[in-house]
Amino acid sequence: MAEPVPPTRPRIPGSGLAKGLAVTLRTMTRKTVTEQYPDAQPELPPRTRGVIGLFEENCTVCMLCARECPDWCIYIDSHKETIPAATPGGRDRSRNVLDRFAIDFSLCMYCGICIEVCPFDALFWSPEFEYSETDIRDLTHERDKLREWMWTVPAPPALDPAAEEPKELAAARKAADKLAAQQAVQPTGTHADEQVRGAEEPTRQMGDSKQQTDQPRPDQPGADRSRPEQEGRE
Ligand code: SF4
Ligand code: SF4
Repeated sequence: MAEPVPPTRPRIPGSGLAKGLAVTLRTMTRKTVTEQYPDAQPELPPRTRGVIGLFEENCTVCMLCARECPDWCIYIDSHKETIPAATPGGRDRSRNVLDRFAIDFSLCMYCGICIEVCPFDALFWSPEFEYSETDIRDLTHERDKLREWMWTVPAPPALDPAAEEPKELAAARKAADKLAAQQAVQPTGTHADEQVRGAEEPTRQMGDSKQQTDQPRPDQPGADRSRPEQEGRE
C-alpha cells in the first residue's frame, strides 16, 4: 500500500524573490575577500614559491640540481679550467667554469628539490610570480635572468633567541676579541706598524744603534718576550 503524501504548504507569491534579495543584502554587508589584483598586490607568505634565483658565485657546477630535478628542466653547461700551482713544484688544479645555467619554468613543477639538494646555497626561492609570457620559449630563464631574481629573495628570518650561535659568528667574534686584545697591549702603534718595524730590524747594523743597547735581543738572557714588538714579529 502506498505511503500517504504529506500535504505541501501553500506557496506565498513573491517569497522566492524576497529570499533572493535577502541573500543579496546579507552578502553586500559582509567584508569582501576578493583581492583586486593587479590593482592591489597580494600579500604573499614569505616562503612563497614564485621563481628560482641563482647566486652563481656559490655554484660549483656539481650538477646535483640538474640530476635530481624530476622534470629535467635545468640546463647546465660548463668547461674545465686549469689553475697553475700557487707554489713552485706544486700541482696544477682544475675547476669547473659555468657557461650556461637555465631553468625552463614552463616545465618546472615548483617542487623545490633543486634548492633542497644544492650543497652550496646557490639556489633560492623568490616570491616573485609576475613573469608570464605569450611565447612559451621565453619561460626558459637564462643565468642573467636567474641572477636578477636573486635580488628579490627575502632576507632569512631572524634566529630564534634560544638557538645555538652559528659557528661562523663565534669564530668572527673570537678573532675580533683577539685583535682587540692585541691592540690593547700595543697602545702606541698599530699591529701593522709593529710588523713593519719587525721586518726592518734584521737589516740594522749590530751595535750602531742606541735603541739596540736599550732593548735586549729576544735570545739574550732577561729579554722580555711579552714586549709588543716581539709579539708583532710572532
Ligand atoms: S623546482 Fe623542482 S621541477 Fe622546478 S627546477 Fe627545481 S627540481 Fe626541477
Ligand atoms: S646543485 Fe647548486 S652548486 Fe651544484 S650545480 Fe646546482 S646550483 Fe650549482
